[in-house]
Amino acid sequence: LSGAMTSLTLRVGDLAGEWDRVGLIPLELLRELGAEGRLCAEVPEQYGGWGLSSLHSGAYTAHVGGLCSSLRSVMTSQGMAAWTVQRLGTAEQAADLLPRLTGGALAAVGFSEPGAGSDLAAMTTTVRRDGDTVVVDGHKKWVTAAHYADLLVVVGRQEDGAVAVVVPTGTPGVRIERIADPLGCRAAGHADVHLDGVRLPADSVLGGHGLPTALLVTTALAYGRMSVAWGCVGILRACLAAATAHATVREQFGRPLAEHQLVAGHIADLYTAEQVATRVCEHASRCWDEGSPDQVVATVLAKHVSATQAARGAATAVQVLASAGSRDGHTVARAYRDAKLMEIIEGSSELCRLMLAQHALSAPG
Ligand code: FAD
Repeated sequence: LSGAMTSLTLRVGDLAGEWDRVGLIPLELLRELGAEGRLCAEVPEQYGGWGLSSLHSGAYTAHVGGLCSSLRSVMTSQGMAAWTVQRLGTAEQAADLLPRLTGGALAAVGFSEPGAGSDLAAMTTTVRRDGDTVVVDGHKKWVTAAHYADLLVVVGRQEDGAVAVVVPTGTPGVRIERIADPLGCRAAGHADVHLDGVRLPADSVLGGHGLPTALLVTTALAYGRMSVAWGCVGILRACLAAATAHATVREQFGRPLAEHQLVAGHIADLYTAEQVATRVCEHASRCWDEGSPDQVVATVLAKHVSATQAARGAATAVQVLASAGSRDGHTVARAYRDAKLMEIIEGSSELCRLMLAQHALSAPG
């Protein structure tokens, strides 16, 4: 794994700031990384993946998150698509789709709609059976990586419940509309997806039948939450490194910033944030790897703690660097914008708090 991390560091180099400025990661690089199985590293080896445990995948995701949150976001989408196929698809669907996802095809996952953000039960996208085909109609919003995607995993309603359907982006009736100038993760390829009478073979529906909406959504989002949580650990590590380096070298009032106690306090806060986020993510990943019943709540906790710590930590890092970090393209400026979005996606901080409260209130004793 450390070899893979080193090789990725070399390939990303110092390009993340430039990708952020132009709002794009080179498509050929994404395809290369995808074809090496790097974008969904938990997929089992039999399907061309690396078969990483959640803990190892987390370490890798944090590494990517420290280099470039846009790339990590693309990775999260690809991994979530693969996870959804693994969890909901038939053996035939897994054998067809997973080797494509580890072979260079890029994927995105669409839940959100204009009237269904936090409240996914309000989704109105329909997946209607018509003989041996299904017809998809709806509008998905803010789909990360949709701009790059070959395949979309779209969640909608069928007669018998919620379904996830695999939609090749080249199918007639699919229109992808790039979101201009997002606050952060600017190169992650966010787009709105319009689906108008999109006709597909009936076996495009993962598992072939409907599920309760909450069950389907929780299953698919669980992977995304772990991935975002570890990505936030990466953001915190990058911020800590930038802040300590700067505070050691930059002098004011005749001594390094780090020797001013209020600045040292900021460094301590950043270190604490990085450690806390790392420990909750490790705990959640261990729950995944052991199949613990605590997995669901540990995942929500990891996502919530890491995202809030990253948003606060990135703001602290900008404070330490001050004017030196106050420009687009600088690691901490990028982290500040990227981290804020982590409090919104895969279950906003408010929704996470509600879930954690529900857990605490229902826990015996
Ligand atoms: P709303 O649901 O309108 O919420 C607005 C505010 O009210 C939030 O603070 C929310 O927490 C709060 N709120 C809402 N309901 C409650 C409640 N019951 N109690 C307390 N507070 C509440 N979607 C996808 O499907 N696929 C993607 O790949 C994807 N990627 C994204 C990437 C980015 C960068 C962003 C910004 C969004 C992305 N989304 C994606 C959409 C994302 O999932 C939604 O933005 C998110 O679920 C929140 O929905 P909303 O923006 O409509 O906010």
